[in-house]
Amino acid sequence: MFEHIQAAPADPILGLSDAFRQDTNPNKINLGVGVYKDEQGATPILKSVKQAEERLVDDENTKSYLSIEGEKAYRSAVKALLFGKDHDIIAKNRAHTAHTPGGTGALRVAAEFIKKHLPEATIWVSNPTWANHQAVFQSVGLEVGSYAYYDANAKTLDFESMLASLSQVPEGDVVLFHGCCHNPTGIDPTPAQWQQLAKLASKQGFLPLFDFAYQGFGNGLEEDAIGLRTFLEETPEMLIANSFSKNFGLYNERVGALTIVAETAEQASAAFTQIKRCARTNYSNPPSHGAAVVTEILTDDQLRSLWEMELASMRQRIQEMRTLFVNTLRAKGVEQDFSFISKQQGMFSFSGLTPDQVASLKEDHAIYIVGSGRLNVAGMTKNNMEQLCEAIAAVLSK
Ligand code: PMP
Repeated sequence: MFEHIQAAPADPILGLSDAFRQDTNPNKINLGVGVYKDEQGATPILKSVKQAEERLVDDENTKSYLSIEGEKAYRSAVKALLFGKDHDIIAKNRAHTAHTPGGTGALRVAAEFIKKHLPEATIWVSNPTWANHQAVFQSVGLEVGSYAYYDANAKTLDFESMLASLSQVPEGDVVLFHGCCHNPTGIDPTPAQWQQLAKLASKQGFLPLFDFAYQGFGNGLEEDAIGLRTFLEETPEMLIANSFSKNFGLYNERVGALTIVAETAEQASAAFTQIKRCARTNYSNPPSHGAAVVTEILTDDQLRSLWEMELASMRQRIQEMRTLFVNTLRAKGVEQDFSFISKQQGMFSFSGLTPDQVASLKEDHAIYIVGSGRLNVAGMTKNNMEQLCEAIAAVLSK
């Protein structure tokens, strides 16, 4: 039965991690997968997470199933983080949140919900976007289109072209926005540009789907929510897929959420029952541990302030690495201008390195970056910076 099945191509990001694991070079550097590293190059468990886990070990008294949508306390904490705890949408019961396995789980449930209840909709993603977006949406049979985003020459947001492409999106379609820290470019709209985009969404009548995987990695927890909060002033409906993989370092606990905002409480409740159905046929109900940790932290003053400090220090370290990277390349005699990297946000930047240069970094220098030239800046450290920049200088001068 299986003899006709061809092997699938390696995943562009996780496949790279497999190759990295197999590389025996002791000086190998992984700037592929989006995982935060500290100054020692490790991805440790946050102190706030450890402390919350200790409490859970003592207090947890059952491993019985959660409900399809997860625990109420978690779902309320997520809404407060997304909208701000006093937002009118919460008071009016216009939003419902389902706890999902990671941000990917949220996107997958959103995709099924869209396919089933907005069957004519095309979903539009930025060009470029996270490598898994197209695949997740296509896997449920959705049409995926792309809108202009990046000016590869200027290394900036091509806002005029973005507006022009989104002006072509018809009423009833869905447009995916990266809430902050755009993956892979590291370039986000400004507050004023978010406003223009929100007005355009309202005029065109498309549904915004916010993918919010890096809250707190850009400018701060509140600041990073500006895009989706600006939209909510203009558009009465929205889907939000958020992830706690990065900002809590809970990658392998698979903790995220899908939130639906509707025009009225009644519409939100009805639509949410359909979201629950999509979850039920996918994984039945979510895994408990990661969300219990997040809830413990978000609802306890001491743990929350510890977490916010840890998050700020991750954010600041990445920013420091951006500056150090640009300066070290210059010190190594690289003439090409990389200063744009210090102006970008979040874990990633598009380096502009060509596929050949990326291949040479891997083959000749054991440095792993995604084929598109996307760098995980959060994988750089003071210890690997010299080696990294020397290797980049070498491939650029080839
Ligand atoms: N969206 C974007 C833009 C991402 O970068 C990621 C993680 N790399 C996700 C969603 C998925 O997050 P998770 O690991 O929580 O599934």
